[in-house]
Amino acid sequence: MSLEIQPLFTDLLGDKEPIIIAGPCSAESQQQVIDTARQLAANRIKIFRAGIWKPRTKPGGFEGIGCDGLEWLKRVKEETGMKTATEVATRTHVEQAMKSGVDLLWIGARTSANPFAMQEIADAIKEFGPEKVAVLIKNPVNPDLELWIGAIQRIYNAGVRRIGAIHRGFSAYGKHLYRNLPQWHIPIELRRRYPEMPIIVDPSHIGGKRELVGPLSQQALDMGFNGLIIESHCDPDCALSDKSQQVTPEVLNFILNTLVIRESSVTTENLNLLRQQIDQLDTEMIEVLN
Ligand code: PEP
Ligand code: MN
Repeated sequence: MSLEIQPLFTDLLGDKEPIIIAGPCSAESQQQVIDTARQLAANRIKIFRAGIWKPRTKPGGFEGIGCDGLEWLKRVKEETGMKTATEVATRTHVEQAMKSGVDLLWIGARTSANPFAMQEIADAIKEFGPEKVAVLIKNPVNPDLELWIGAIQRIYNAGVRRIGAIHRGFSAYGKHLYRNLPQWHIPIELRRRYPEMPIIVDPSHIGGKRELVGPLSQQALDMGFNGLIIESHCDPDCALSDKSQQVTPEVLNFILNTLVIRESSVTTENLNLLRQQIDQLDTEMIEVLN
């Protein structure tokens, strides 16, 4: 089935430029939200993210500021003109976020893994006006492409046409370089099946560390994905969630300025070198098989 997709925000973004979404993991205080938003807006960020309801692995952590944060997002919109984005996981979240005028809803990785939760969210969006919001669906925590596609289809079937996916990597047991393994072949296969749907990469949750945000962002653009969602906090070391992966708006600006956006039709790689490497791997493979 091919999807009838509309651009997320025609008034904000050109056709070709990557969609950049930035903001803190969590809205923590009015001051933190407004400070971060002002700095991001000054750096030409157009879509502001902040988690209001936080799905935490264990109880007792910071579980989000709740509805007060929606008022702060309204203020961000009025003061900076940025669009606002937050995570929804229940029917009540959808109702409250949509009534407060949040422009973009995203579905988290723990929620997209649950078809009951996805259907509840889809039904709520259908009831409150699927044309009023853009929706991005993160991959489920486990590397299951069909489950991811199923979650996307439920939202699409609710009538949402400004729709996209977020690749945030997949959980794995044990210690790894990445917090969530990128397994790039999975979002690449998603793009092969739905070439018309934007796929945005979340280097913050894939990497889990500040120093990986830049390299992962470049990799995402090199593979032709359509944008980035990056966690940015005015004082990352004091963040109440995901502090080791958040960067200041200033560092984010530096990272974005260093990214190279390549023409998708040309390659800067040395083809001869790549061919030699392929030949070498072929030889090694044959030896192994022998
Ligand atoms: C988040 O975006 O802060 C978040 C909780 O992400 P994920 O669902 O990818 O873990
Ligand atoms: Mn986070």
